[in-house]
Amino acid sequence: MGFWRAAATRSQVPSLRRAAAERLAAAAPRDPWTAAASAVAIILMVAFAGIAAVASLSPQVQTSAPPPQSAAKEEVDTGPDIREVTVQSGDTFTGILVEQGVEPGEAQAAVNELASVFNPSAIREGLAITITFGPPTNAQPAPLLSIALKPSVERDVVVNREADGSFKAQQTVKVLKPRDDRAAGVINGSLYLSAKAQGVPDAVIVDLIKIFSYDVDFQREVRSGDKFELLFTNYYDTDGEQVRGGDIQYAVLTLSGERKELYRFTTGDDEATDYFTPKGWSGKRMLMKTPIDGARITSGYGMRFHPVLGYTRMHRGVDFGAPVGTPVMASGNGVVEFVGWHGGHGKYIRIRNAAPYKTAYGHLSRYARGIKPGTHVRQGQVIAYVGSTGMSTGPHLHYEVLVRDEQVNPLGVKLPTGRNLIGKDLAAFKTRIAAVDALLATIPLPPAVVAQTGAQARLQP
Ligand SMILES: [Zn+2]
Repeated sequence: MGFWRAAATRSQVPSLRRAAAERLAAAAPRDPWTAAASAVAIILMVAFAGIAAVASLSPQVQTSAPPPQSAAKEEVDTGPDIREVTVQSGDTFTGILVEQGVEPGEAQAAVNELASVFNPSAIREGLAITITFGPPTNAQPAPLLSIALKPSVERDVVVNREADGSFKAQQTVKVLKPRDDRAAGVINGSLYLSAKAQGVPDAVIVDLIKIFSYDVDFQREVRSGDKFELLFTNYYDTDGEQVRGGDIQYAVLTLSGERKELYRFTTGDDEATDYFTPKGWSGKRMLMKTPIDGARITSGYGMRFHPVLGYTRMHRGVDFGAPVGTPVMASGNGVVEFVGWHGGHGKYIRIRNAAPYKTAYGHLSRYARGIKPGTHVRQGQVIAYVGSTGMSTGPHLHYEVLVRDEQVNPLGVKLPTGRNLIGKDLAAFKTRIAAVDALLATIPLPPAVVAQTGAQARLQP
């Protein structure tokens, strides 16, 4: 038994690395916020960089994933059986083990032990789990030897079978040191690729888009030649290797010459963290501009030839093309006013947001659980799923913003901001700005940026 365990542990190394890579690539949204941000990221990639941008995400996964090697190649008949399973939507930990042939009682015992270091219900779609079996003996199915997973870049979890047959769970957590890093550059093609070229981690770019997504229509307002600058926390391991990105402390986008700055700040009384303009105004808006994950705009607001009716008429919303089943989010806090069939809109939801605003969502395939008239919803909460019900030529979300029950252009409407800082908070915020500005002056930009700035200087004599 001891040999098999040792062999299994060796062969887990590539698997664990792969687990980390897949976890990154899966980018499974942890919360509606992340979902919203990844939606914007996808829009960006599609709109500005085409398929190349999307493709550039995957090689890193493939190259870092050498095929799992059998630890005991010469003893094919008797060696451990190592399997890597990727968690699918709706999977449970016990279910995965049983599906792989673990006897239900054993599976439950292993998962119970796992729970001492990792919440088994916290597995997310895309997470890789390495399951190792010993060789089967006469009339006995192959015994489960170990389960290994990497729930985050700094955390390894393993459940091993002990000599007495019981399971033992262990986790190792890397000690990471935070450091504030700076990045800046000229946007060339897409913000995503340009920031990536300056070494900004994916998660930080997604955050960057997220914090500006209330104010900036990334599809129309970001152009080549625009600029970005960032101060963000980066986490390094003890070897000085960058492991993951952290919070953005300060970010600026210069779009068509207009500087948009946001500072991260936590208010004193309720300890709420948000991003604020230098004047202390919240970077958030009451409604999100894109209430869907993975969307691209296929038809804007205004006059158009209606593909189903066959004549030109006013389109009173924005269409976001997306596959059936794509989650649709409430674009703002509010109370559900209507759920059901609504003529050409098919399956439809309307939410009463802060007066005088309402938002409506059409052509849905189904509603999220618990969504009925009177339900309170939060901004970013999944309320339904994309479909093609009603008068629709293909799967998309029809999204409307209504002001006093009249549709307005969702992308053009000027929306009220979130909270603005006053009094003691504003004073503390001004101190924070001064500290960040002082910090910015002391942190050099990475070398790549210096080169780019030189090129830019030549372009703009
Ligand atoms: Zn529409």
